[in-house]
Amino acid sequence: MNLEIFFTIVIGLVLGSFLNVVIYRLPRGESIWGPFSKCPNCGKTLRWYHNIPFLSYIVLRGKCAYCSEKISIRYPIVELSTTLLLLALYFKIRLLYDIFTFIGFSIFGLTLLAISFIDLSHKEIPDTLSIPLIFVGWIFALTGKNPYTEGLEYAIISSLSGIGLLFFINELYYLFSKRDGIGMGDFKLMGGIGAFLGYKSFFNILFFSALIGLITFLVVVGYMKLVRKQNISEGFLKTEIPFGPFLSLSALIYLFNPKSLL
Ligand SMILES: [Zn+2]
Repeated sequence: MNLEIFFTIVIGLVLGSFLNVVIYRLPRGESIWGPFSKCPNCGKTLRWYHNIPFLSYIVLRGKCAYCSEKISIRYPIVELSTTLLLLALYFKIRLLYDIFTFIGFSIFGLTLLAISFIDLSHKEIPDTLSIPLIFVGWIFALTGKNPYTEGLEYAIISSLSGIGLLFFINELYYLFSKRDGIGMGDFKLMGGIGAFLGYKSFFNILFFSALIGLITFLVVVGYMKLVRKQNISEGFLKTEIPFGPFLSLSALIYLFNPKSLL
């Protein structure tokens, strides 16, 4: 048992490092399997010992070994959150269900993490992540190892109704404001969430992601007005807010405790 926890941490750090590559390269159209990582500033290829998850960042004090350019804090944050997510999945899923359930939800959780970080920095959810997520969710349902869905048909119906539901909300919003309120990427993400968690999760997830989205927005506006003394323009109120991280966070909370959001 202790050995399993140790391996979960090691695998978490390694996968976190891989997720960093995905988050950096995918939106830039670069190959994930391509050459070794380079410093984005000086272009020098990093040695393996510059690439040890988390440790290298601390040893190098967050700077490139060659040119001393600051390394984004996102790297250790992604590695840490990947590891914590896997540990949480270990305790919540692995100890209750078998290894395939654990692997299925690990793929789900890690994809949501990558989507969230990409959406945060690029305001875009890559199809190369969201569409495969739907199909993997269907295969997962087909194996009968997913306790949140009742077989393939249920997963497919859930995906389609997830996409349809966001489409409907967007149309409704369009009717009043004459512009789109939800991005296309979010539709497909909701399809993936439906494939893994089933349509019964939608009310909770949508309500909760709207709530934390609103709270985050109010905190940002409050910070700008009260601390920075800036004026909030009407243009700012129409800025695009990445919705992917809120949807993902709500989906994960639902996965760990379906009743908590009620
Ligand atoms: Zn450098």
